[in-house]
Amino acid sequence: MGGLVLFDLDNTLVNRHDAFHRWLAEFAGRWGLGERDTAWTAVLDADGMTPRQEFFAAVRERFGLPEPAEELLAAFHERMPELVVCPPEVLAGLGRLRAAGWRLGIVTNGAAGNQEGKIRCSGLAAMVDGWAISGAEGVAKPDARLFRVAAERCGADLAGGGWMVGDDPVNDVVGGRSAGLTTIWVDRRVGPWPAAEPKPDRVVADAAGAIAVLLDR
Ligand SMILES: [Mg+2]
Repeated sequence: MGGLVLFDLDNTLVNRHDAFHRWLAEFAGRWGLGERDTAWTAVLDADGMTPRQEFFAAVRERFGLPEPAEELLAAFHERMPELVVCPPEVLAGLGRLRAAGWRLGIVTNGAAGNQEGKIRCSGLAAMVDGWAISGAEGVAKPDARLFRVAAERCGADLAGGGWMVGDDPVNDVVGGRSAGLTTIWVDRRVGPWPAAEPKPDRVVADAAGAIAVLLDR
């Protein structure tokens, strides 16, 4: 059938969690951090939800690192795109969606260079019609305006409806719904659905599951 589908990037199309832990292992090796230090740093990261400036300021202070926080952040943004992976079955699934007439977009919160680097290094740039990154647009999910920009980049209009796929209940599902999209929640089993929020339209385990739902329509 086809239509518009927007995907979240981190921990939806690419496994940001694994990439972060690979980066953390390298970082710990460089600065001689022990197991307790890396565990503390992983908690501080909060799955990427802690603002990066705040994250690196705290890491630098805790471990007494000589490099300025801005340099630690710049190195992180340079390395992370090289570490994220979009599973081959997801890239292939996106190809099948496109062949079936779907327009595909990415809508993601984060720094412009870092997120675009991930989109390009993971092979996603060639598989989607467009993307919108909060750091580049000056507006972040769950604000409907970022979804609107992503739709436009795909040559589509939110008035025509569409789908939103993502792992964050508020940023992706509540935001996607407010933008008029049908929602698919990627349940990573890191926490229950927040009771205060209306349920997503569909629930899947991962992006491949979401693609299967869409191909089935
Ligand atoms: Mg996400």
